[in-house]
Amino acid sequence: MADQQTIITAPRILQRSDASTKESAWRSWWSMATFLGSCWISLFILAAIEGITFYLIEPRILHISPILLKCIGAGMLLFFLVPFGGLTLITLTAIFGIDLLYPHGRTSITVRMLFPIAATLAQLIGIDRNRLRTSFVKVNNALTIAQQKRIKGDRVLVLLPHCLQIDICNRKLTNDVNNCVRCGRCKVGKLVELGQKYGLHIEVVNGGTLARRRVATFRPSGIVAVACERDLTFGIQDAHPVPVYGVINDRPNGPCVNTCVDMEMVEDAVKFFQKK
Ligand code: SF4
Repeated sequence: MADQQTIITAPRILQRSDASTKESAWRSWWSMATFLGSCWISLFILAAIEGITFYLIEPRILHISPILLKCIGAGMLLFFLVPFGGLTLITLTAIFGIDLLYPHGRTSITVRMLFPIAATLAQLIGIDRNRLRTSFVKVNNALTIAQQKRIKGDRVLVLLPHCLQIDICNRKLTNDVNNCVRCGRCKVGKLVELGQKYGLHIEVVNGGTLARRRVATFRPSGIVAVACERDLTFGIQDAHPVPVYGVINDRPNGPCVNTCVDMEMVEDAVKFFQKK
């Protein structure tokens, strides 16, 4: 009887897990679509502006010098092709998880150029800024995962926002997270324990300046950053080319006060860097 039950239920579990895997894959693609879609639309708006500008200035420049016209045309084409190439590689890497990114070790021109346009565009068409930022964090995480083979997991830095500490606690954590006595009133204690378990370097920061300073001092090979959508968006761009896995915090009491974080997500991010 038990065997019969096993035979009957096993395929159902399999089906359910297949369906949930497909569903989560679809959800993960969809969550990235806001940022990628906004960037593609921004790129084509940029191309249209360039095309119209070239069309308007062409007769005058031709009158001055045909060579100058060719140079301006080539410059404009390059100004389109660089972000076009970058965005194509980012999109393919994020969706298919195959590392196609060129490891140039500098700030991503594509993201720097297209993100402000995408943010403005999203605002104009009524997309919530935080939705765009969440989507950006998802794309960034997908790119970080795709680059796993390139990442050395030896120096992992965990950056925590100051607002994770409960407001009635007077321990000074920005100096040293070990000042936390793990009383259990907030998630910081659990995170310190997690740090000890995996041998992590944990820093609590109260803003972007301190976060940048901690990154410059520690020189991590990977960062697990917990923050709100806004801080993660800027932080990920600032930390580049250091790979960052972003975990968005929960804010049941509103922004910047007594925030929480999903411990499982933080642990998964740590395991990813340490390849466990
Ligand atoms: S767990 Fe640490 S940071 Fe949180 S309230 Fe207790 S001592 Fe303060």
